Formats: sequence, structure tokens, C-alpha cells
Amino acid sequence: MDKIKWARKDSATGKGMNKGFCCFDGEYYFENESDLIQWLRSRNVDEYKELSDEFLLDEAYECEDYYFTEWDIQDSDYYYEEQEDGTLVEVVDNKYMCNSCHNLFSASKMDFDSDNESDLCENCN
Ligand SMILES: [Zn+2]
Repeated sequence: MDKIKWARKDSATGKGMNKGFCCFDGEYYFENESDLIQWLRSRNVDEYKELSDEFLLDEAYECEDYYFTEWDIQDSDYYYEEQEDGTLVEVVDNKYMCNSCHNLFSASKMDFDSDNESDLCENCN
């Protein structure tokens, strides 16, 4: 059975996600806006407690502290595989440029023969 793949891991819930909020260019990921708000508030509790959620979200967005996005696993150089117990295991999907046709292709480094200096895609190999 194929394992479920996720593009990113939610920093609050630990669950997989394919769209959501990316904070500090990938330091944190949140699928739910409520978790994003909680993270924003946790950064400076005293100063922020009087401010509305909307204000915090607007201000942080303008400072480019976060943005909302969707990820395509195909375009990502890593992803997560969900195990039977629900935990996520990170899989690095290395991309190499074919020395012949110059297209990018995925392969684990172990697929290459150590004596083979050239990286060739399946079509050119
Ligand atoms: Zn090629």
C-alpha cells in the first residue's frame, strides 16, 4: 500500500499538510489560522494581548512574517511520508540535472554507481 505523502509538517499539530501558512520562510508551518494566531501572540505576550487577531495577522503579514501557500510535492525537494501510527518521516527527494538532456530528474544518490561520474536520467541512461 502506498503511504500518504504530505508536503509539509504542521508545527502545532505535527500533522501533514499540503497548504497553509509558512512562517519566517519555513521555520514554522501552520495549517490552521488559530495556530498561526497563537504563534503570533506567543512572540510577545504583553504587548499583543490587547490587540485583535485581525490586527496581529495584518501587521505580521505586512512584515512578511508569514504567507499562505499551497505546495506541490512534485516540485518540492522534500516531503513527508505518513506511517501507520500517524508519525511523519521526512523523505529528501534529490533532484539532479541530466548531463545529456539537461532535464531535472529525481533519484536517491545511492542509485548512482560510485564509478559513474556522469548523472544521466532514465531516458538517457
Ligand atoms: Zn537525460
